[in-house]
Amino acid sequence: MDPAKVKGFLSPAEGEMLGHYAVQSAVLGQVVEIGSWCGKSTIYIAREIAKTGNLFFSIDHHRGSEENQPDWEWFDPEVWDEQAKAIDTLPHFRNNIRLAALEDTVVAMVGCSARIGQAWRSPVGFLFLDGSHTMVAALADYRAWVGHIMKGGILAIHDVFPDPTDGGRPPFEVCEMAISSGLFNRIDQVDSLVILQRL
Ligand code: MG
Repeated sequence: MDPAKVKGFLSPAEGEMLGHYAVQSAVLGQVVEIGSWCGKSTIYIAREIAKTGNLFFSIDHHRGSEENQPDWEWFDPEVWDEQAKAIDTLPHFRNNIRLAALEDTVVAMVGCSARIGQAWRSPVGFLFLDGSHTMVAALADYRAWVGHIMKGGILAIHDVFPDPTDGGRPPFEVCEMAISSGLFNRIDQVDSLVILQRL
């Protein structure tokens, strides 16, 4: 399964960069992403992680973000579950991971990413932050997970738009906050993906 063909909002260059840094930092701790959607970033990362023998934890409630809901800009009727009257990307995600032959590497965690972060007890080497883009949710994810990232580990943030006319602000603001906290250095960037390293 070519990840470029999977539904999602990630450029091939962003996908390749995620895979590169995920492998590099997997020696430091677990590899985790927040925001699976249909598995596009998951496949880019997991196909590299599979070579290391590590697991890759992909967290999402699979009910879509605000902008994916009916009548919003990024609504996709193909991921609508009429019985549940809600978005359900989990069947699409699961099917794509199966087609990519990555079921032995990818661990799908279905639930609230901030609450899972509070319960999490394992050091993290790589965290890809790409969940809900409301300020409340983006901040909750950051606060629940930042303490798990090991020194030298990577925090990758998607949809960082310094110019507000290009997109919503919360990922940009979380990124700025991470840098100004003194905990992270910005080490790389492509398109709207920013790579921070824990000092
Ligand atoms: Mg994104």
